[in-house]
Amino acid sequence: MIAMKSQSTITSFTTFLENFKNTLVRVFHDENDISSFSQSRGFPTDVLKQIMDQKPLSVSIPTEYGGRGAKVKECLGLLEASSYESLPLSLTFGINIALFLEPVAKYAQDAVKGTIFSRFLHEQNMGGLMITEPDYGSDALNMQTSNILQGDKYKINGTKHWQGLTGMADYWLMATRNKTESGRLSRDLDFFITDEQQRQQKIEVQEYYNNIGLYPIPYGKNKVNIEVPAQNKLQPESTGLKLMMDLLHRSRLQFPGMGMGFLRRMMDDAIKQCTERFVGGKPLMALDQVQFQVSKIQSAFTICSAMCSRSTEISSIENNVAGNALEANCMKSYVTDLMQMAAQTLTQLCGANGYKEESIAARGIVDSRPFQIFEGSNEMLYTQIFEMISKLMHRKKEMNLFSFLSTFNLTKNVANHFKSFINFELDTQLPQRKMIDIGKIISRMVSANYVLSLNNKGFRSDLVNQCIDNISHEIGVLASSYKLQTSISPIIDYRDGGNWLTVS
Ligand SMILES: Cc1cc2nc3c(=O)[nH]c(=O)nc-3n(C[C@H](O)[C@H](O)[C@H](O)COP(=O)(O)OP(=O)(O)OC[C@H]3O[C@@H](n4cnc5c(N)ncnc54)[C@H](O)[C@@H]3O)c2cc1C
Repeated sequence: MIAMKSQSTITSFTTFLENFKNTLVRVFHDENDISSFSQSRGFPTDVLKQIMDQKPLSVSIPTEYGGRGAKVKECLGLLEASSYESLPLSLTFGINIALFLEPVAKYAQDAVKGTIFSRFLHEQNMGGLMITEPDYGSDALNMQTSNILQGDKYKINGTKHWQGLTGMADYWLMATRNKTESGRLSRDLDFFITDEQQRQQKIEVQEYYNNIGLYPIPYGKNKVNIEVPAQNKLQPESTGLKLMMDLLHRSRLQFPGMGMGFLRRMMDDAIKQCTERFVGGKPLMALDQVQFQVSKIQSAFTICSAMCSRSTEISSIENNVAGNALEANCMKSYVTDLMQMAAQTLTQLCGANGYKEESIAARGIVDSRPFQIFEGSNEMLYTQIFEMISKLMHRKKEMNLFSFLSTFNLTKNVANHFKSFINFELDTQLPQRKMIDIGKIISRMVSANYVLSLNNKGFRSDLVNQCIDNISHEIGVLASSYKLQTSISPIIDYRDGGNWLTVS
């Protein structure tokens, strides 16, 4: 039986977070040097143990099971504190929170919740999510991993790969399709909790991958040939597909938590570098181009702050966010593009020192890069943003982009700022590259709207003004790209006549 904790015995979040941050400083800087182990795989066991002793994952466990109550603000605060020091640490928590604990809190059967939450709280257990298969990544709905009910157990068979925490997690959430008696796979999905401590549920790691970044997190290929009790099946409110959309959208809406500390760190280090490094007798910051570069990182910091603030309003497990595709896609795609941009910019500003393996900027490039790929590649998400908006425009019979966005809930407060760029009729038949330009414009406008809301809550107005100017610049560039008529396509069979040595 799990001991219940009353609200009054829970440490205040400020104290909890302070203790957590102090632990990170102690284990990453005072007792060890994080840059010395950021190049080897896995966190040193004692370092991870000391961090986990702070019970960071309690933020996403309901209070009735002894946790801090799965408050979005606390989850994002924890992710931010982690990613300031280590993006892989933050992603480790992001996986546990959004891809395992939140869905378990919301959809698992009561019979299994107590043990799971207790093991997370008292035995430093971890959990991850298995969706991707070698032949089905972006095309996940066609996954082949199957489940068959036999008696009171489900037999699950398949191959999954690229799961964060491969071979390390104690629990998995396994996405499958039911196999009917005729051998056909159903269109809907079923999710199961699997427990590595149970022999029949153990997943075999066939291979570990040499991921180029995120060294502390193991990835690989998993053979799934297991049996789980029927009570381990998640219970969707309607369909399994809606459950997956709720889960994935909530995760995408919580990406800004991981982006927040990372972008704050890129900004702090960029300001330090550019005020302390003198070139030709002047600090770098005296150069106009450098000011432009640092202000772009700072604007990314402001945008991400606004996204975190918005996420706390909408992404709680009490809300079903299956229908929030637009905001989820805008946040995930834009914040991950900003993370990559910030890391690239800081690396450049650090000069040759930015090219050292232990440089946080260079590590940031490789560590943040896959964020643009996983949980929906950004190209796919920008395309979907376009499709959702163009569908709404058709329904409203309003094809002028500015006119539509000036009345649309998520953009109406900022539309006027960008009118000169977006005052055109949207083509109905567009090549995908143009759809992506428009998807990007929408994501920037939705984000600018969040920034204005953050301003109204009392955020510094100079940061807000600088940020809106930066977004305006970006939208201007995207709008010209959209208007540029090109149909460049690759020449696949390019070899004949394509060698300068033979034609010169
Ligand atoms: C570091 C890392 C962590 C991961 N963590 C997990 C995890 O914890 N659990 C899990 O189940 N999976 C995880 N994945 C897998 C990840 O979700 C998939 O790699 C991703 O969905 C893409 O699938 P794929 O690799 O098969 O690429 P593909 O589907 O083959 O796509 C390849 C590329 O094609 C392009 N593309 C695809 N579709 C479109 C489109 N519609 N429009 C335009 N371009 C498109 C994109 O550039 C895309 O990157 C992780 C991957 C990485 C790299």
